[in-house]
Amino acid sequence: MKKTKTLLLLFTAFFVVFFAQAQTKKDTYTLITNVKVWDGNGDKAVDADVLIENNLIKEVKANIKAPKGAEIIDGKGGTLIPGLIDMHAHLAIQEGMLVGKDSYDQMAMGARSGQDMMGYLNQGFTTARDAGGNILGLAKAVNNGLIPGPRLFPSGGFLSQTGGHADTGSFNDEIGAVDPLEYHGFGYITDGVPEVQKAARMNLRAGATQIKIMAGGGVASEFDPITTTQFSLEEMKAAVEVAKDYGTYVLAHAYHDRSVNRCIDAGVKVIEHNFLVSEATIKRMKENNVALSAQAVMSLVAFAEPEKITFFSADQKSKASQVYKGAMQMFKWAKKHDLLIVTGGDMFGPAYTGAQATNITALVELLGWDPVFALKTATRNAGEVLSWSGGMNPYKYGTIGTIEKGAYADVVLVDGNPLKNIKLIEDYKKNFKLIIKDGEVWKNTLK
Ligand SMILES: [Zn+2]
Repeated sequence: MKKTKTLLLLFTAFFVVFFAQAQTKKDTYTLITNVKVWDGNGDKAVDADVLIENNLIKEVKANIKAPKGAEIIDGKGGTLIPGLIDMHAHLAIQEGMLVGKDSYDQMAMGARSGQDMMGYLNQGFTTARDAGGNILGLAKAVNNGLIPGPRLFPSGGFLSQTGGHADTGSFNDEIGAVDPLEYHGFGYITDGVPEVQKAARMNLRAGATQIKIMAGGGVASEFDPITTTQFSLEEMKAAVEVAKDYGTYVLAHAYHDRSVNRCIDAGVKVIEHNFLVSEATIKRMKENNVALSAQAVMSLVAFAEPEKITFFSADQKSKASQVYKGAMQMFKWAKKHDLLIVTGGDMFGPAYTGAQATNITALVELLGWDPVFALKTATRNAGEVLSWSGGMNPYKYGTIGTIEKGAYADVVLVDGNPLKNIKLIEDYKKNFKLIIKDGEVWKNTLK
């Protein structure tokens, strides 16, 4: 009896201390004044102040009275936009990874990823959906505030069939061989429903926020011609069902009609690339609320002059030129049929360090799209797709991709108006005066 009483006392004391501490943690306020705000939803930037409470946006309107103790930031007439979102990052993939796979080192990769993630923040990208590779541990570290980086929505290892787009094995492999990259979580080579289910669950148990499958061939890969369709309908459905059981969705690498239509039949929610499809397939995507995740630089810039890519074979060059022509047409149809379009670079390695924004500006420069439309693909549209991670979403307490009450406080202050001159977002070092992620200042050169 006495023991119970002592325990009870101890328990009460713990809660008193705990709640007292919780209560003494003071709310912090930041008020941004003298800016034009583009909220991610509308068509123009308007004069308003933005009040941030802790890590969320509390209010957006003219002449907000600063709460006591608020830090006030004078934006000097710049344009405040939502933090940018890259929907197709590969933060745990490096150039030359396949060739050097025997000496691949996961810790060295992690160090590079850390650098790249800080690079993302510098470029105003406050959120990234990782579209495959072993970023799961780092995602936890970032999302728990241990190391700096954009909010991460990791897919974990790719799901690929034998000989599929993420089969990194060697020509002479025996059945069941696990190569060094697969061993380190780059991807899972899975055949048949149980293997697909297992791989999807392995990713989700380690914190994947959605599942990435390879549903067809690629341009540069060794075993899979671009015309191939990968995974049977049953295998795709198995991945979709596991994802749904966790309250999330599947995104798929797919280029052509046969792959994309099988993905739609299976319940896949986002198609990556999509460059060789017909207009009829685009219409089906629209009818089934399937979103398009587009890579403008990879299709329209890198493949515009394939004969200049010296390490491509004649066959790879011809595939690249097909992709270029297909993409030009596909983007037009996607806009015409009002698909939900998000953008992600698929750009990694030194050639693209610091160039993530070109994947947005290319839509304006090469396709003639309106800058507001282009910016929405990397802000509010992206935020909508990220919310499909449902129960696996690490950021459930606010919205992402907009500047409005209840949104996470991720904002970028641009010197000038990117809605009129989209090129401003490319020169981030000069033009981004203030970058805030999760209510915390990452960069401020206003002073
Ligand atoms: Zn990719």
